[in-house]
Amino acid sequence: MAGTHESLATKEAVMARLFEREQQRVRELNTLYEAMKSLVTTLDLRTLLEHVLMNAVHGIPAATRGLIMLRDEEDVLRAEVGWRLESAEPVALGFTLSAEIWDAVTACDGVVNIPDLRNDAQAACWRAIPEGYTARALLVTPLRVDGALVGALMLSAFNPHAFNEADLNLLEALAATGAAALRNARLHEEVQRLAMVDPLTGLYNRRGFFDLAARQYDRSVRYGHPLVAVMLDIDHFKLINDRYGHQVGDEVLAEIGTRLHAALRVSDLVGRYGGEEFVALLEDTIPGAQIAANRLLQVIAKEPVITSAGPLPVSTSIGITAFAPDCPSLDALLQYADIALYAAKQAGRNRLMVFGDE
Ligand code: GH3
Ligand code: MG
Ligand code: MG
Repeated sequence: MAGTHESLATKEAVMARLFEREQQRVRELNTLYEAMKSLVTTLDLRTLLEHVLMNAVHGIPAATRGLIMLRDEEDVLRAEVGWRLESAEPVALGFTLSAEIWDAVTACDGVVNIPDLRNDAQAACWRAIPEGYTARALLVTPLRVDGALVGALMLSAFNPHAFNEADLNLLEALAATGAAALRNARLHEEVQRLAMVDPLTGLYNRRGFFDLAARQYDRSVRYGHPLVAVMLDIDHFKLINDRYGHQVGDEVLAEIGTRLHAALRVSDLVGRYGGEEFVALLEDTIPGAQIAANRLLQVIAKEPVITSAGPLPVSTSIGITAFAPDCPSLDALLQYADIALYAAKQAGRNRLMVFGDE
């Protein structure tokens, strides 16, 4: 009789264990499912990272903090997004991580479990992460896109030895999802960028310029910020094409694009308006914009453009106008600048004209 009881108890224990394991499996699949869902529903890089991180912190019960780090263009590893279980919200971070951490991530082959940070001399570099993202136990997994290391996902727990084998497996699957998401979002960003940028000059194309200019115009109207439109057109550009060919004309356009970009502030919006016409919006008043526009005239006329047909002198004409309360639209503002530009051409080219002064 006792034996029957015993075997019954054993059976129950086995069932309970199986049930527990199934529950764990369901949690894992749910976590993965949620992460996958966010992958297909959004292409915004930050939102994606936040989703992956949230799923990792919530899907792995022992985890109390999460961090996604990404390698930036300068090859520096940066903490991008953080997650704290108690606040249940993403935290935008942006701080730089040490070279030792980068080395540690590079050395990771799959998920690395650091059961007790306090008693692990080799893992000392992780303790230096600010804002309490590292506690006693850590899980770190590299994020790879097409084989290239782009960053890492880290989870931490308050207690040592907090993570188990199942957690490692789940994090590995999540990291694969995160990496796929990263690849998609980056491709999407690149496509968006290409649709807005003129490949010859590297400046915004007409579409990109108008997209951003409309927002800047609205901001100026709403907050009363000063705004100046600048129209710039290369003088006698047709002659360059006629004399040296279209290819040399293109070389000149590319160089003018580079000079304009370098001569303006990063906050200024500049685009290629049409063939050999450029446009800029400056958050400035007329006196300030005059200084900027004269600088543009100079950087272009001062040094000839080096082309495959030799150095060619190039000059431009500029028309500017300031936004005023009676200006009905962005189109009108650009039209006024164009009128001033036409006047600059009439007055002999290689000069600046302010709308209203013609
Ligand atoms: P102005 O001083 O009055 O502005 O004279 P211009 O010769 O610069 O002006 P016009 O409008 O007569 O000629 C502009 C020329 O720009 C004609 C066109 O073939 C050329 N062009 C437009 N887009 C491109 C381009 O992408 N590459 C090259 N090489 N030429 C272009
Ligand atoms: Mg021209
Ligand atoms: Mg023109």
